[in-house]
Amino acid sequence: MKEQKATNVTWHKHKVEKKDRETLLKQKGAILWFTGLSGSGKSTIANEVAYQLHKNGNFSYVLDGDNIRYGLNKDLGFNPSDRDENIRRISEVAHLLSEAGIIAITAFISPYQILRNFCRDLQEKERFFETYCKASIGTCEKRDPKGLYKKARAGEIKEFTGIDAPYEKPENPEIILDTDRYTVEQCAEQVIKKLQKQHIIK
Ligand code: ADP
Repeated sequence: MKEQKATNVTWHKHKVEKKDRETLLKQKGAILWFTGLSGSGKSTIANEVAYQLHKNGNFSYVLDGDNIRYGLNKDLGFNPSDRDENIRRISEVAHLLSEAGIIAITAFISPYQILRNFCRDLQEKERFFETYCKASIGTCEKRDPKGLYKKARAGEIKEFTGIDAPYEKPENPEIILDTDRYTVEQCAEQVIKKLQKQHIIK
């Protein structure tokens, strides 16, 4: 991970603190870090969770897919160090949103435990939810919503996670969503219940 470059930087204490923002929003800031193979359901369930939270009067924001590569990360490609930097920046953005009192929801394959832990370690333990979308590669390949497995099998995409690049299963995720067995709505409900149980939302 990147070293601190600038010296003489001072962390400012603000008049309005996190707890004040959280009182205003009637929720706690947190991160739902979705991880899983392509097609495992991260994006679909993340969006359903955001919809349910919105209906419930909670403030969330989804950081998803390619959108971030059009802006903040437009200078990054797909080589290993750029991929790491992509996730590092997403982690820092999610952390800022969480500090703002928002429930940040990220939906990236994020195949390496070390990088998921980087984000985990940025905030208090009880505010980070590694959310593992568990589905067999067979299921994901059958769903293939973006036709990516087909391309990977045809050799048109190299180093595709689950085919010819590794995916490290989460070691100790806060939430496991078995998307082979449960519907999108059931998985979203499982997430909402967890947030209630941990007093992130009412
Ligand atoms: P990812 O973001 O992990 O790449 P997506 O959410 O884009 O995956 O795609 C998952 C696809 O699988 C969608 O087309 C979705 O409708 C479908 N699907 C079928 N059953 C489920 C389920 N139980 N959970 C999530 N997605 C499901």
